[in-house]
Amino acid sequence: MNTSRRNFMVVSIGAGTALWLSRARADAPHLSESDPAAVAVGYKENAAKVDKAKYPNFAADQTCANCSLYQGKASDAWGGCTLFGDKLVAGKGWCSSWTNM
Ligand code: SF4
Repeated sequence: MNTSRRNFMVVSIGAGTALWLSRARADAPHLSESDPAAVAVGYKENAAKVDKAKYPNFAADQTCANCSLYQGKASDAWGGCTLFGDKLVAGKGWCSSWTNM
């Protein structure tokens, strides 16, 4: 097999796998605020409910949708997060691991 044909096949398989994974993720379970991993970082589905006394670094304009670890589009209600594996977080949510893009 020549190099360009092999590269095309690798790219095609990769794109197909990415599409399959993105479809699977839409059906993924939502992260519960009571999940021990969520509790550990103060995750809330609604950033307005963050305990500001406990997390003084929280700023009102910080949400999962504008966190660099968010895997969804900014307009998505739910999306993946690199911290929480196969569980989805709320685009309007927040946790103490929020990271500027
Ligand atoms: S790391 Fe970012 S995207 Fe993930 S839960 Fe925390 S704020 Fe949301």
